[in-house]
Amino acid sequence: MTPDTIHSIFNLFEKHNPTPETELVYEDPYTLLIAVMLSAQTTDMNVNKATEKLFKRAKTPEKMLQLSLEEIEEAIKTLNFFKTKAKNILGISHALVENCHGSVPKDRASLESLPGVGRKTANVVLNVAFHEPTLAVDTHIHRVSNRLGLCATKTPLDTEQALLKVIPKEALYHAHHWLILHGRYICKARKPLCQKCFLEKLCEYKDKEL
Ligand code: SF4
Repeated sequence: MTPDTIHSIFNLFEKHNPTPETELVYEDPYTLLIAVMLSAQTTDMNVNKATEKLFKRAKTPEKMLQLSLEEIEEAIKTLNFFKTKAKNILGISHALVENCHGSVPKDRASLESLPGVGRKTANVVLNVAFHEPTLAVDTHIHRVSNRLGLCATKTPLDTEQALLKVIPKEALYHAHHWLILHGRYICKARKPLCQKCFLEKLCEYKDKEL
């Protein structure tokens, strides 16, 4: 795919959604970090239902540490792997209070040292909370980017590295949400809605649903 086509793709993303945002409900970097960690293997909508209950009881690391593991499990029990995630909530809160004065760190290494926080979660927090031009590649972004022809990669990490090289600098900050929302609502895994897709003319996918 030529750089001009890539520019056109991101111009169209901007035209259709100038300020894309996460669908996770959060108030600050801490509640965002917890919501993103909880979103592994589940939908944002499910996470929002669980965090509505959880954040009513505690929305700072200090307050969270006043809850028992069982109380946190009860609040998030509708989520996959809720027992592990509840332990991670306590582990994250403990580490933030002990090592970061209760604040969420702004650097990748510190974020990734927190329990249950991997590269993807760190990238989302850096992007959404701290406005860094990072790309958290999930299954949607991996699929959409390969279908469009932005990259030809086998793993999310390869996709992240390939996209960082080709996406125009000025588009990088919003690229994460543009690609993720496109994958969620238009370029769906089983049946992409190519007829409704504003990128159809530029997309290189061979099996478009037209
Ligand atoms: S044209 Fe189809 S395959 Fe290509 S990005 Fe749009 S929905 Fe996805």
